Amino acid sequence: MNYQDLETAFTLSARLLESSNYHDLTRSLIEQLQTFDGVEEVFSYEILARQDKKPDEPDILVRRFPMSLDENYIDDNHEIIRTIAFEGKQGVSFTHFDNAPHILIYICEHTVPERLVLIKGEVSPYDAELIRGLALIYERQVKMFDTKERDPLTLLNNRQTLPITLNQVMDFYRGREEETYKSWVAVLDIDHFKSINDNFGHLYGDEVLIHFANLMKREFRYSDFLFRYGGEEFLVIINRTDSAGAEKALERFRECVEQYDFPSGQITVSIGCTPISPDQPISNIIEIADEALYTSKSSGRNCITMQTESNKAAPEESEVELF
Ligand code: GH3
Ligand code: MG
Ligand code: MG
Repeated sequence: MNYQDLETAFTLSARLLESSNYHDLTRSLIEQLQTFDGVEEVFSYEILARQDKKPDEPDILVRRFPMSLDENYIDDNHEIIRTIAFEGKQGVSFTHFDNAPHILIYICEHTVPERLVLIKGEVSPYDAELIRGLALIYERQVKMFDTKERDPLTLLNNRQTLPITLNQVMDFYRGREEETYKSWVAVLDIDHFKSINDNFGHLYGDEVLIHFANLMKREFRYSDFLFRYGGEEFLVIINRTDSAGAEKALERFRECVEQYDFPSGQITVSIGCTPISPDQPISNIIEIADEALYTSKSSGRNCITMQTESNKAAPEESEVELF
């Protein structure tokens, strides 16, 4: 290896290490791979074969990166993805599908969801070694971001990742004015949770939160995005449906919580929900969902409020502070 080769290797590695979140990291890897001679196309997927998936879902659930927002996403690579997922071979492999050369970067050990980068094309032996090196760095960084971006108790994404995801959702709708469906933000807050801690202790409280998160994973569609927003407050982005569809999904979940046998007995949840429009500041969307949640709380809890606009009067121009 000469100095120029070393410089290339370090430059590519450094670019991967510059990324400050999982989304940027994956985008950076895809961009780099696309510059290699012989690479035709690069795809990236998150794979989750859920144990408690519903019977009418396919045996393997895939989300494409950047996101597709489609329920039960299936594309031309689906059979290849299935083969790789069922073989379960961690790391980089050079292989052929339908006589066409492919390079695979598969990360399946100790990660949920599993990640697959699928590269169509063939590269020189030297570039193959570079790709092996980049894949190693990518794997370490994915695992690092997974710990940073997930809540350790419920393994849901944490609040920090919400703006990144919301921006992706908004991007999806930009330029698709013909879409009749929207995405929705719902804030879910467990009712009287403090009394569970007071009566049963904090450990019991934690256990209830885990059960609650698992119910969310089971009840919402795989293409929806789930977050632990704060202590006993959760958030879901319900994708591609109308107001009635979002309300129905939430109502189903609310009932399911009400009927579930939690370690502390019965609990209920209050919910506030609002549509996401691509030209609205994120803070506004969350504020409206919070207002809707407050309405649910003050109207007796264990219910859902759908709200499109803020009830608060818009501030007078003179009251707006400019920084
Ligand atoms: P409301 O119906 O108005 O939502 O009442 P609430 O008791 O659920 O709400 P409040 O905000 O008064 O209390 C929330 C409680 O959640 C207080 C806090 O001790 C508890 N909490 C927050 N994070 C955790 C956690 O990680 N584990 C446990 N066990 N409790 C938590
Ligand atoms: Mg609460
Ligand atoms: Mg709360």
